[in-house]
Amino acid sequence: MMQRYLEVKAETPGTLLLFRMGDFYELFYEDAETAAQVLGLTLTSRDKGSTNPVPMAGFPYHALEGYLKKLIQAGYRAAICDQVEDPKTAKGMVRREVTRIVTPGTLTDETLLDPKESNYIAALSPGNEALGLAWLELSTGQFQCLTVPARDAPGRTHSSPAGASSRRTARVDPVALVLEELARLRPAECLVPENARTSPAAVRLAELDGLTLTERAPWCFAPHQAREVLLKHFETRTLEGFDLGADDDAGVIAAGALLEYVQETQRSSLMHILKLEPYRRGSTMLIDEATRRSLELTRTQREGTRAGSLLDVLDETVTPMGARLLADWLASPLTDPVAINRRLDAVEELTRDPLLCRDLREQLARSYDLERLSARVATQRATPRDLAALAQSLALLPKLKARLAGRSSDLLRTLEVRLDLCPELRADIESTLVDDPPLVVTEGNLIRSGVHPQLDELRELARGGKQWIARYQAREIERTGIQSLKVGFNKVFGYYLEVTAANRDKVPPDYMRKQTLKNQERFITPELKEYEDKVLRAEERAIALEQELFTALRERVSRECRRLQETAQVLAQLDVLANLAQLAVQRRYCRPSITTEPILQIREGRHPVLDKLRPGGEFVPNDVLLGEPLRAERSSSSETADAAAHTDPAPLHAPPTTIILLTGPNMAGKSTYIRQAALLTIMAQMGSFLPASEAVIGVADRVFARVGASDELSKGQSTFMVEMTETARILNTATERSLVILDEIGRGTSTYDGISLAWAITEFLHDEIRCRTLFATHYHELTELPQTLPRCRNWNVAVHETGDDVIFLHKIVPGAADRSYGIHVARLAGLPRDVIERADVILDQLEADHHDAQGKPNIPPRKTRAQRRQLQLFEPPPHPVIEELKTLDLDQLTPLAALQELARMKQRLQ
Ligand code: ADP
Ligand code: MG
Repeated sequence: MMQRYLEVKAETPGTLLLFRMGDFYELFYEDAETAAQVLGLTLTSRDKGSTNPVPMAGFPYHALEGYLKKLIQAGYRAAICDQVEDPKTAKGMVRREVTRIVTPGTLTDETLLDPKESNYIAALSPGNEALGLAWLELSTGQFQCLTVPARDAPGRTHSSPAGASSRRTARVDPVALVLEELARLRPAECLVPENARTSPAAVRLAELDGLTLTERAPWCFAPHQAREVLLKHFETRTLEGFDLGADDDAGVIAAGALLEYVQETQRSSLMHILKLEPYRRGSTMLIDEATRRSLELTRTQREGTRAGSLLDVLDETVTPMGARLLADWLASPLTDPVAINRRLDAVEELTRDPLLCRDLREQLARSYDLERLSARVATQRATPRDLAALAQSLALLPKLKARLAGRSSDLLRTLEVRLDLCPELRADIESTLVDDPPLVVTEGNLIRSGVHPQLDELRELARGGKQWIARYQAREIERTGIQSLKVGFNKVFGYYLEVTAANRDKVPPDYMRKQTLKNQERFITPELKEYEDKVLRAEERAIALEQELFTALRERVSRECRRLQETAQVLAQLDVLANLAQLAVQRRYCRPSITTEPILQIREGRHPVLDKLRPGGEFVPNDVLLGEPLRAERSSSSETADAAAHTDPAPLHAPPTTIILLTGPNMAGKSTYIRQAALLTIMAQMGSFLPASEAVIGVADRVFARVGASDELSKGQSTFMVEMTETARILNTATERSLVILDEIGRGTSTYDGISLAWAITEFLHDEIRCRTLFATHYHELTELPQTLPRCRNWNVAVHETGDDVIFLHKIVPGAADRSYGIHVARLAGLPRDVIERADVILDQLEADHHDAQGKPNIPPRKTRAQRRQLQLFEPPPHPVIEELKTLDLDQLTPLAALQELARMKQRLQ
């Protein structure tokens, strides 16, 4: 047996081999040591007495799923070697084969997957000419590929469409593009050729969290080999039918290598992988990893959980496939206004008919995960219960389709047409399987009676045989006078007569002893064996026939899996659209109008996450005004025009704002405000209504967010280095169509350094990139910028001051903040009074720009507490305004400045 083990082990390199022995799965050698550690199993050894004991660890076969889950989560691959012969009938040693290899990216078992999340496996082909990336969701069959040229070829650069911007083309880093896609997909596993382990792309890949890198032999990535695998699988002679041309070569290679790996690990039909789709980046908004993270689109920055992310608050879908599609829409918002409006039209129609929306959701909620079910059918893994669930889901469709009839929006109408009821499939399953079939095929009782005459006959025979045994037992009790005599059954001996030890001498001579236990003896008789044969054989044959009938049914269904997948996609879309409509109604969202102009205008916008977490109007809504107000908008709605005129401080003929420079104290709501602008843009482009009273969203080709000083020390880079790397990427790749939000640039270095960098970056964004930008900063000095940058405006967060107290109103208003209030915040935080007062004095000196002859700020020396206590004995404590008055340098003051100074002091006294 160990010889067979070693053979199998050699066939499955890089995996932990789970070797079935009797009722256990065992691991040996190093595998056993790893498993003992990861799974907490006891490490024992085989052939203990010998000179060469083999380390061994194992667990009972029925605990397989639980242990597999742990292994996979820890990033391991596992090969499962099962007994493929019945130990009862096997001659010699039972034959063992690897039945499947489970890897993080190739899970299909329901128990190992999160129903709300897609589980992708990717392959990267780092060619010289181009990088290829392919990805597959095995549990649904979605299969796509992408090719990114390695060098900037003409026409491939990332220029914005508008003529005005052609003078500036952004530099594209192909590796960054690939990583961006991986950030969107978050695959569990990625294949790379083992000879390209050190390529720039593979190295950066290794840094991604939660990704298992799997090295494959280079020949898997050979162009000819990869293409062959695809052609053979799709049974086509070319891939042109999939719209894959010469430009897609690198992606096709990655796809071929990927498919080859999946065939090797799955060892079952992959019929549900019906096509390979080229992924064209132009039609979706690009969002890099850092931006996804800082905007907390699908998980939170700190805990990394789904709870608290934008996805989490938007997800009220009622099916797992809807939940996955929603995540997909959010991860890749659209850029084509026509496509966006198609979704918005459907959502709007559903908001207008709440009853329809509710009915759809009610029906959908009763549907099972049709998408993953049909994939399990196609890979021959579906259980009888899976098929029953499939039929039950199909049974909901007629009503759903009827409710969808006669809709006016284009998307709902298309979905209605595409919704295939698959009536013959449903009828086939319903008429073949019993109503509540068992989970496994091996125990019978899953096929209805009347389906197959021979099955009915065998069942009758088995049932009859059992009755005979009951009669036989009664007869033998009477004959022997042993009241406790029983007919029993076990797998080893079959049927037997059991007699307690006390009755041993009453046993008739025709009984043949089979087994002696402590308190019983077991016997057989020729008569009993004869019937046993009949019953068992009938039962066995019935079960075998049931299996046959079930497999045939599953095959018939799997031939139609294309239709099932299509229907599953329709249901997923309906679920997402109804979900968005439901949010729009419940949370009072408005429909954004979508334009291609570089505009971002939001009236009374709310942060979607905070708004949900703090219902009841606690969240203070805010406006955003970027880009030229639409002329059409102005004439059609006088209210908008008023609002615009009111909030936009610029005169009408002034150039449109492209940069909002937002100043204000800490904790005022700056970060919240700028993130909100980005989130609303993303939501609009995914086809959602918005938490606002009105919005005009100019489609953004990319959204960049550089938010907060996120601590990346764990990755070995200083915070400031990370901050600058991210900023560099924005400045190198943003186009005139992008939306950029910057939060506190330059914080990680000295103040003067920071201000200078922030200043220069703002100028560059203004003059060179000209993209819509929201820049939040606590550097008060930057409020000077709009004097020289015509499209840059100061906004600030309104505060309410009473004496020394400050209340943040969270209201963003035009104009520069008059001071930065850091000291007030420090006071609120409970810093000692001494420190606060001293800081006030220093601030006043700095602000008044008092310098000595060497240009150093002129700060009066600090008095210790003791000194001050002494002073206080003789004089009343000095008033800060008096102190301030003392320090005023009248020779330097113009009359106007003096007047301002006086007004300021008066304000402080109040
Ligand atoms: P800043 O970036 O100016 O330091 P934040 O955006 O981090 O401030 O917000 C500070 C706090 O104020 C957060 O706890 C946030 O929940 C709250 N907040 C921000 N904006 C609003 C708003 N518009 N309405 C109500 N609370 C808000
Ligand atoms: Mg902030």
